[in-house]
Amino acid sequence: MSDTCLFCKIIRGEIPSTMVYEDDEFVAFKDIAPAAPIHLLLVPRQHIVSLQDVGPADREWLGRMMALVPQIAFDNGCEPGPAGGFRVVANSGAHGGQEVDHLHLHIMGGPRPWSARSIPNA
Ligand code: AMP
Ligand code: ZN
Repeated sequence: MSDTCLFCKIIRGEIPSTMVYEDDEFVAFKDIAPAAPIHLLLVPRQHIVSLQDVGPADREWLGRMMALVPQIAFDNGCEPGPAGGFRVVANSGAHGGQEVDHLHLHIMGGPRPWSARSIPNA
């Protein structure tokens, strides 16, 4: 946990959010500036800065995080199947366009067209 990190504050409930999923390892909440009709952020409770900071020792929880994506997407309105689906984005570091330095997956879906911000910070 970081005292100053925005997402750690959201996880601790110090900053309001619209939570859509919580377990003992991960939370998911609605992005405050959605780039798609459905735009969620899936975040590990552990303060890990970005994908640049993970390695082989992180395989298991990263696997659990990825495996949660379809469940969270479909529970929140993304449509299954080839005509539906979703986009998953992990911005990492300045060159990756990351603004909040706590690892997170953007889960975006819903009927197109999406907003011009369809790839966050692109
Ligand atoms: P990134 O650029 O990948 O670090 O994405 C950070 C995301 O966090 C952006 O899409 C923001 O819209 C989103 N965001 C920033 N502040 C909040 C907040 N208080 N609640 C929910 N989402 C937020
Ligand atoms: Zn954090």
